[in-house]
Amino acid sequence: MADVETGAAIIDGKAFAEGLRARIGVAAANFAHQAGRRPGLAVVLVGEDPASQVYVGAKGKACEAAGMASFEHRLPADTSEAALLSLVERLNHDDAVDGILVQMPLPAGLDEQAIIAAINPDKDVDGFHVINAGRLSVGQEGFVPCTPLGCMMLLKDRLGDLSGLDAVVIGRSNIVGKPMAQLLVDANATVTIAHSRTRNLPEIVRRADIVIAAVGRPEMVRGDWIKPGATVIDVGINRLPPADGATKGRLVGDVAFAEARAVAGAITPVPGGVGPMTIAVLLRNTLVAAHHHAGMDAPEGL
Ligand code: NAD
Repeated sequence: MADVETGAAIIDGKAFAEGLRARIGVAAANFAHQAGRRPGLAVVLVGEDPASQVYVGAKGKACEAAGMASFEHRLPADTSEAALLSLVERLNHDDAVDGILVQMPLPAGLDEQAIIAAINPDKDVDGFHVINAGRLSVGQEGFVPCTPLGCMMLLKDRLGDLSGLDAVVIGRSNIVGKPMAQLLVDANATVTIAHSRTRNLPEIVRRADIVIAAVGRPEMVRGDWIKPGATVIDVGINRLPPADGATKGRLVGDVAFAEARAVAGAITPVPGGVGPMTIAVLLRNTLVAAHHHAGMDAPEGL
């Protein structure tokens, strides 16, 4: 339940991600010691999308900080699909590369699904390949997309057993909403997936013990939609228009934070909630890929 004075507990994704990254750093050093090489992540960026440049830079830095090798491939926006496919094929066969990530969105004219399909599923640390989506849906081991897996780690840390809890996932994208719903079902929650055609969304959200908002609409989920004591995970990252005189607008989530905090039991802030988990889980997936690639068992508890 929310504390009457201060409101919901804050789920500190930044602190959780720092702890996870530290454990990954130790495991990566052990791997390097045993395998004689560092775990390696190749990140491919096509074009000059400013947000993608920031993400790719952050991923490279996080890799190096965790003792992993980062191989960055920055290609011009007019790169042909054949050239991109041939790079992916080269990385599939490169023994120093354990994970391959092609930064989305790709420039118009490049078929994202064709590129994802070309990545070796065992190096698909983003978990976007249909083989990994299929593995998740039938309960086989595979790579799970980083953002929903990070949300799941925060939920389990906060709530422990999720059996029988009512969860609502708002958003049905292949990279967040659908895999999130699958993970919640696998954890024995009762799951509703809401989306742009859902009727009576506030009413549906009011029934939920767990709310995952992954829509991309600033502060859409209001405080009076939240069941008292619910756990709220806000995946949205939205930049508001700049206030007078400012160069940049404020970052907000898909949940009206102050309103929801007054009612919820626990809530992730934006920034500092789900965002930092995504990169930490990418490192985790790369570490697991490296162990499988080297014929070693992946460390437990990451
Ligand atoms: P998306 O645009 O692919 O999907 C949005 C989903 O929201 C769709 O399934 C749509 O049906 C649903 N939707 C749209 N309008 C709705 C409405 N009025 N009511 C209910 N549902 C509605 O987006 P995505 O890639 O899943 O990302 C969602 C949000 O999460 C974005 O803000 C994105 O920036 C953010 N995101 C954050 C991270 C992170 O690391 N924190 C990672 C990925 C995405």
